[in-house]
Amino acid sequence: MKTSLKDKVAIVTGGTGAIGTAICRQLSDSGARVATNYRSDQKLKHWQEQNKGQSFFAHKCDVTDFNACKDFVAAVEKELGPVDILVNNAGITMDTTLRKMTWEQWNTVLNTNLDSVFNMSRQVVQGMTDRGFGRIINISSINGQKGQIGQCNYSAAKAGMHGFTMALAQEVARKGVTVNTLSPGYIATEMVMAVPEDIRKQIIAQIPVGRLGTVEDVAFVVDFLAAPEAGFITGADIAANGGQHMM
Ligand code: NDP
Repeated sequence: MKTSLKDKVAIVTGGTGAIGTAICRQLSDSGARVATNYRSDQKLKHWQEQNKGQSFFAHKCDVTDFNACKDFVAAVEKELGPVDILVNNAGITMDTTLRKMTWEQWNTVLNTNLDSVFNMSRQVVQGMTDRGFGRIINISSINGQKGQIGQCNYSAAKAGMHGFTMALAQEVARKGVTVNTLSPGYIATEMVMAVPEDIRKQIIAQIPVGRLGTVEDVAFVVDFLAAPEAGFITGADIAANGGQHMM
């Protein structure tokens, strides 16, 4: 069955990034009006040039700043209408072992990956429950499910996202709002492709399907979870990792 997001308004945080761009395009292809945040004017200009022909709404916002998120959502609602779909995708890594990790590295990764989920979801949840429809999709990671050396900060933040998902899913389940986590494995983004080929081959050897994921693999699952027909899926942590980690 073909799903449709016609007339839905979607926010994708970090939409100017690798996975975020694919999610913006996919939701737009399904009929949604899509908004994202950005931080740098220069990066936005470059992104808009790469996405000519798309009519994404963009607003400056640092997702670690609660009030900036409030202003962002208000701007989206003014421009596009009430928010039906929120994809919490903005994220960063600052990898190092715990013995070397600074408080800043811990705090920045937690603020960006986890606090941002509160900062954004808090702005839209009341409207979604009032209107009886909503989709919140939190982009976590395989490394939030299984841990990873050098990522105590990132793994904690990404695991925390799913705790948030399960709690909020229960709070809003009867109001037509679903909340889910999507945990991608290794995706062939620039960052992963910059890893030396021999190491990349070792990574791929651990993935049963025998390849890295694509940004479209992730965007497809977001689109699926965002659909009105996906209303019976909530509080789930969906893995898109080629079988690398099975729970
Ligand atoms: P990118 O670095 O390509 O994109 C990250 C996006 O988040 C950028 O648009 C970036 O904006 C934005 N962002 C970061 N910090 C902030 C902030 N404080 N405020 C506002 N925006 C911010 O990453 P990916 O596309 O690879 O990753 C997207 C998501 O997927 C992340 O949550 C990541 O953890 C997760 N993930 C990625 C995997 C992969 O293999 N790539 C695997 C598993 C999960 P700016 O350009 O301004 O920095």
